[in-house]
Amino acid sequence: MTVRYQLPSDRMPTAWFNAVPSLPEPLAPPLHPGTREPAGPDDLAPLFPMGLIGQEMATEEWIDVPGEVLDILRLWRPTPLVRARRLEEALGTPARIYFKDESVSPAGSHKPNTAVAQAWYNKAEGVTRLTTETGAGQWGSALSFACSLLGMECEVYMVRASYNQKPYRRMLMETWGGTTIPSPSDRTQAGRAILEADPDSPGSLGIAISEAVERAATQDDAHYSLGSVLNHVLLHQTVIGLEAKEQLAMAGEDRVDVVIGSCGGGSNLGGITLPFVPDKKAGADLRLVAVEPQSCPTLTEGRYDYDFGDTAGMTPLLQMYTLGHDFVPPPIHAGGLRYHGDAPIICNLVRNGWMEAVAYPQGKVFEAAIQFARTQGTVPAPETAHAVRAAIDEALAAKEQGQDRVILFNYSGHGLLDLAAYDDFLHGRLGDD
Ligand SMILES: *Cc1c(COP(=O)(O)O)cnc(C)c1O
Repeated sequence: MTVRYQLPSDRMPTAWFNAVPSLPEPLAPPLHPGTREPAGPDDLAPLFPMGLIGQEMATEEWIDVPGEVLDILRLWRPTPLVRARRLEEALGTPARIYFKDESVSPAGSHKPNTAVAQAWYNKAEGVTRLTTETGAGQWGSALSFACSLLGMECEVYMVRASYNQKPYRRMLMETWGGTTIPSPSDRTQAGRAILEADPDSPGSLGIAISEAVERAATQDDAHYSLGSVLNHVLLHQTVIGLEAKEQLAMAGEDRVDVVIGSCGGGSNLGGITLPFVPDKKAGADLRLVAVEPQSCPTLTEGRYDYDFGDTAGMTPLLQMYTLGHDFVPPPIHAGGLRYHGDAPIICNLVRNGWMEAVAYPQGKVFEAAIQFARTQGTVPAPETAHAVRAAIDEALAAKEQGQDRVILFNYSGHGLLDLAAYDDFLHGRLGDD
């Protein structure tokens, strides 16, 4: 019985899909943090190359992927679409569950899809160094990988607490030639100010963003790179959904009933769902579902408003669901889902009823992850396990209702560098929520 649907290399998408023209209502513009007037290309130019700023504001539906980016993506793309038959059997469900396996990339997640594109557009405009922040290290390692293949330097500000507690992704970053700096650091004014007040500061994502942005803004050869939230990041991730659509057809499916992704800033979710937005617009009977942790319930409990992207209030304001830029989420294991806001594109879909959002407590998420590992074999990242939970619940609901539901979810990354979280769950050291 076939369980893996593999596209040949020459069927990899050669253009990204821009969902902005198909959204239910026009996207509100980002606002300048000082003047609160709409931010133009010049406001973003100190941090990003014009190639990416153009994509951020693009109105055309398709944008060609540069040839050299395609060549690098072909190292692991197209990724497999897998039918989770053993999980279906264990659940006793009539539903068919498919997942798009983004864990096969060199960094083990979907993040290199945009890291490679971002590094390439920066290099094309003469930038030799990218700065960024990372929490647990998924984004920092993806960007280090991309920079190494394009001969660029990568400077990663890593939250000091993670730097000390999670050494493996730091080692991965350094293996790919990235420089990893525990944040707060003495390299920036922002970092020095924090250290002066508290020499033992454990750091935070907000502080690390401030340091990375300051370095990029004050040095000519450096730009800043963000791994989620922005329109161009979601654009680069649409290869996921574009491939999945073709693979579902290969599997003989003429429809999909529900498409699911975990949501931290919205990039893997956007990647798998945005190519289905035109179907939604045409009235297809299809549900798009965002899954978030109950402890950081941005879409399910946040307010819809303009807010800053960072804690310090230095970035442009984006219209989104937000818990407030000063919201400090508890230290749950799905570090990649601890963000106070979400991508404006995703928020627009939720706001207008084209996408649903659900939130799960951590214990329920790990139960699903373990069930997946013990039936399908592979160990999902804690972030990915949120999508696994929702897919299982959809399959159980289909069983209850006697429906042959077709379920697609994004397997955004593997959990082999997150085994300490599994250890905590298996030995009762994990909080339920
Ligand atoms: C970073 C990450 C996420 C969350 O980020 P999004 O931008 O919301 O996709 C989810 N899964 C994995 C494996 C990640 O590394």
